[in-house]
Amino acid sequence: MAKTEWSHQALRLWVSVCLILVVQSSAVEGWNRLQHNAQRIKGILDGLKKQLNISADISAAVVPKDDLLVSVSPDRHRKGAYQISFDAAFLAMLDEDELPAAIAHELGHVWIFTHHPYLQTEDLANAVAHRLVTPTQLDRVYEKVRLVKSPPSNLAAAKTP
Ligand SMILES: [Zn+2]
Repeated sequence: MAKTEWSHQALRLWVSVCLILVVQSSAVEGWNRLQHNAQRIKGILDGLKKQLNISADISAAVVPKDDLLVSVSPDRHRKGAYQISFDAAFLAMLDEDELPAAIAHELGHVWIFTHHPYLQTEDLANAVAHRLVTPTQLDRVYEKVRLVKSPPSNLAAAKTP
């Protein structure tokens, strides 16, 4: 009897340890990816800016939450400058091909900000981005956006209290 109880406890402990390890390793993986991507932003940004002949000063910030996931806006404090904002959790999801595509899309918006008639549309931002990255790269970013914006119902259910 005592032996059975112990093995149940041991099993439960074992399962708990396994779960903790799984959660921790995916958290570490996400954290590493976030660090890695955050460090790559500036290099990619500078390279793509050159290809588009954009001379405006563009800074990048990783923020805890951006409802648009990645967005760009004129820098409030510096005239003629722009800032791209990355949602940290979304940035941690992007791979080697997707990060440049996301940045290229935002540069598309910067291009529109600096060209008459300054009409911001997603199509035009993507048309500019297509000069820099492949349609496949952009499609994959959109797939991840859809995943975050409308997660599978079981995930959504798990999130709501
Ligand atoms: Zn856009």
